Amino acid sequence: MSETAVSQSASSQSVSSKFALSDFNAESNPKDIIAWALEQHPDLIMPSAFNINGIVLMDFAAQAGYTGEVVFVDTDYHFPETLNTYAALERKYPQFKFVTLNANLEDTQQYLIDTDACCAVRKVAPLQDYLAQKNPSALLNGRSRDQADTRASIGFVEQGKRKRINPLAYWTREMLEGYVKEHELPINPMYWDGFLSIGCWPCTRAVRPGEDARAGRWAGQAKTECGLWVGEKAL
Ligand code: SF4
Repeated sequence: MSETAVSQSASSQSVSSKFALSDFNAESNPKDIIAWALEQHPDLIMPSAFNINGIVLMDFAAQAGYTGEVVFVDTDYHFPETLNTYAALERKYPQFKFVTLNANLEDTQQYLIDTDACCAVRKVAPLQDYLAQKNPSALLNGRSRDQADTRASIGFVEQGKRKRINPLAYWTREMLEGYVKEHELPINPMYWDGFLSIGCWPCTRAVRPGEDARAGRWAGQAKTECGLWVGEKAL
């Protein structure tokens, strides 16, 4: 694995939170949860695939004073629209340190044969290796309960290998879309064409009416997660 661009963490968050975790509920402002998390875990890192959840999270993190890393794994199979969205976010949030990881593998089209193995080497391993090196005590991420059944019970804090802070756990798709429009955030334009969760192009299709937001990922397979958040290699 190599890092095409790596900025060392130098989080200088200075927001002081007046909250305790027990103060938060489904109505809480994500900015307050992030401010609390920064106080508890000043070394936290934000992995992101630049989906709508992640971009709303980024905007709240900026308001909360986050100046740390936003880590993206480039699998070599992202849509051009995703990479353009990445560029727009770099322009909008210069206070963040954007980091791109890439496994630098040959294009063997492994996704045609074994998507679990493909995700493991192209997506999970680069991030796992990077986190092993940085060893943050927590990860900030934008997952929410209504994205999929596999996420239906997540809370604001989960304990994995390290803490996972989920400030948008109770946000619905309607809330996310309303926030994006109100704040004119540069989300991936494919979203408005039904690509509610966007990963690699070989493994993503638009969602059909009535399907959950992640139904377009690995459609037709039992696979529902890339392995970053569930499974024995989870972050
Ligand atoms: S989403 Fe598909 S193409 Fe991307 S890493 Fe996983 S299996 Fe490979």
